Amino acid sequence: MREVYLDNNATTMVDREVFEAMEEYFCKYYGNPNSLHHFGTITHKPLKNAFNQLYEGINANEDDDIIITSCATESNNWVLKGIYFSEILKNGKNHIVTTQVEHPAVSATCAFLEELGIEVTYVPLNDKANIDVSAIRDAITPKTALVSVMWANNETGVIFPIKEIGEICKEKGVLFHTDAVQTIGKIKVDLQDVNVDFLSFSAHKFHGPKGIGGLYIKKGLELTPLFHGGEHMGGRRSGTLNVPYIIGMGKAMELANKNLDFETNKVREMRDKLENALINMNDVLVVGRDTLRVPNTILASVRGIEGEAMLWDLNKAGIGASTGSACASEDLEANPVMTAIGADKELAHTAVRLSLSRFTTDEDIDYTIKILDSSIKRLRNISSSY
Ligand SMILES: *Cc1c(COP(=O)(O)O)cnc(C)c1O
Repeated sequence: MREVYLDNNATTMVDREVFEAMEEYFCKYYGNPNSLHHFGTITHKPLKNAFNQLYEGINANEDDDIIITSCATESNNWVLKGIYFSEILKNGKNHIVTTQVEHPAVSATCAFLEELGIEVTYVPLNDKANIDVSAIRDAITPKTALVSVMWANNETGVIFPIKEIGEICKEKGVLFHTDAVQTIGKIKVDLQDVNVDFLSFSAHKFHGPKGIGGLYIKKGLELTPLFHGGEHMGGRRSGTLNVPYIIGMGKAMELANKNLDFETNKVREMRDKLENALINMNDVLVVGRDTLRVPNTILASVRGIEGEAMLWDLNKAGIGASTGSACASEDLEANPVMTAIGADKELAHTAVRLSLSRFTTDEDIDYTIKILDSSIKRLRNISSSY
């Protein structure tokens, strides 16, 4: 049976080139970079190279910091909790602005900070599944310590207006964090072009290994560490450096940018082909279709069909996809993505997310269209609501 992986917003395959770059740092060059002997020092050059790949990948300045973390969940937790210690407790600012559709690594951390007495404003999506710049502007008060808005949404692929929000934050003197996990390798991330103070990323979303990520911190900014210990990463994040994974993430970043044209052209073309085929199956609504999106993502609502029933059919045919969190919620009202686009109650549980990568092929897409077509026909035939 054919195997088709269309859940690349959840995680991606490690590129073989990345795997090969990492390999000899497990059993051959395994020294601790902090050691003074040659087992340690031999890792310095390849580590430096990996950091260069990361700095170049997001076009950061040399004197900005890129700190290695265990994942983007850590990076997001760190920014929000770090700001609590370095800004909120010190300066008396007690307000954070974010959106209703952040990854749980941001939204659950905000909920935790609310328990500590911090005020959080959750800006909703507009009817185009995007964030209005004016809504962010209006939410900022003199008490605002931080604005945290993701660059691209993991469910819909919609690209949020990070450049404009960054300018507002600069003008108002408020720190700005963006979760860029879904943008690396999908659109150009250029820190010379946007005013961002903190940026989170994660290797496994761009064909690197799981369990390693990073946090970009603009030059000179204070952020209380979460991990105290040794003097790793200039004391900002303690813990022995994960040499093979850092090297893998550097390589993955380099390849992500090298393949950006392919992503913008070929991946988009395959996505659009799949999307148009879905639309032609009638009563299918693609969220954010009229909005600027990353090239690989489709969040589709198929009237009359439970998202989970569809996933079951797809999985039986060897295709891996996701319902996204759009279906996780029991309550339509509680789902900001579906309410934002004005979806009625019937559409509440019908969402399916298909996310491609540069390893997706034309044959994968043709096969998926065929399976979707027969699955939708079959499920609508037995549906009580269609
Ligand atoms: C996957 C994801 C994360 C979490 O990344 P991990 O490295 O798995 O912790 C955070 N934000 C977004 C938008 C994601 O898609």
